[in-house]
Amino acid sequence: MLAACGQSANGVGPHADRGDAKGSLVGIAMPTKSSQRWIDDGRSMVEQFRDKGYRTDLQYGDDVVENQVSQIENMITKGARLLVIAAIDGSSLSDVLQRAAEANIKVISYDRLLLGTENVDYYATFDNEQVGVLQGTYIADRLGLKKGKGPFTIELFGGSPDDNNSAYFFKGAMSVLKPYLSSGKLVVRSRQTRFNQLATLRWDGGIAQSRMDNLLSKAYSSHRVDAVLSPYDGISIGVLSSLKSVGYGDAGRPLPIVTGQDAEIPSVKSIIAGEQTQTVYKDTRKLAEVAVQMGNAVLTGGKPKVNDTEQYDNGTKVVPAYLLQPVSVDKDNYRKVLVDSGQYTPAQLK
Ligand code: BGC
Repeated sequence: MLAACGQSANGVGPHADRGDAKGSLVGIAMPTKSSQRWIDDGRSMVEQFRDKGYRTDLQYGDDVVENQVSQIENMITKGARLLVIAAIDGSSLSDVLQRAAEANIKVISYDRLLLGTENVDYYATFDNEQVGVLQGTYIADRLGLKKGKGPFTIELFGGSPDDNNSAYFFKGAMSVLKPYLSSGKLVVRSRQTRFNQLATLRWDGGIAQSRMDNLLSKAYSSHRVDAVLSPYDGISIGVLSSLKSVGYGDAGRPLPIVTGQDAEIPSVKSIIAGEQTQTVYKDTRKLAEVAVQMGNAVLTGGKPKVNDTEQYDNGTKVVPAYLLQPVSVDKDNYRKVLVDSGQYTPAQLK
């Protein structure tokens, strides 16, 4: 039997078939170790699933789709009863998920939505559009756009085109920035404003850095860039390297506003040092908790808690989701949000 608290928290009814779930294997497929957040997500899930009496198999795909497919195939072969998957490419797993369904394995989409398949049961994530709203609002507030200031220049970066979240982040940011682009208070000198022109394959900071090098040399040799919308800390770090290489950050030439996401340590240090301006914190300990509760519920005949049954249509079905709230972080509130919450110790940020 599983721990009673897990059952009641997930509303498991008296007739639930839960006797054989204990000790069963949970496969956890994460995209990459190149970013600390996924390492933390994986570790938190392993700890929490183990606390509930499950065995786990945690794998990282090194951002290579084929690796992730074969890791999931392996989990199926090993007899996993549940898969928790943060996809590298949300559309690339339909075949392997079909095999999982044939083996009666439940599937939870973790942080990133699995696309084009009916074989996904639940989705644990953050309010992804809100992430973009926080980034866009931060730029608008810092530039004083609401007060009528401007015009200012801005360049836009998007996430990986094969990650469903990227479009949500961009849509959220644009919902705030678009009126200022239309009125001319914000100007994208490169004119690259369509998502496919500004996406960053596999969220690669190096690719973002090269693109920023290009933008600066083509559109800013005699102009200043005032803001950069960056959807992820790894991209922000690449953008900042590019900016610094042409003299931004030197005396009399301040860096532009640069947003980010994940509150990764190098970016938080950069914020403290006055380089990156903002990031969006998503407490992955809580996300792991949501996924573990969902997993425990589906394996024990319970009903996972969800708070969104409309927004996340994967092209085949609307996947019931639980959305957590992201938080905007900058120099003024990082101590409260990141240190007081126990996410980081002061020493980690030195
Ligand atoms: C996640 C972000 C992360 C990005 C790059 C997205 O799917 O939601 O938190 O910054 O992937 O790893």
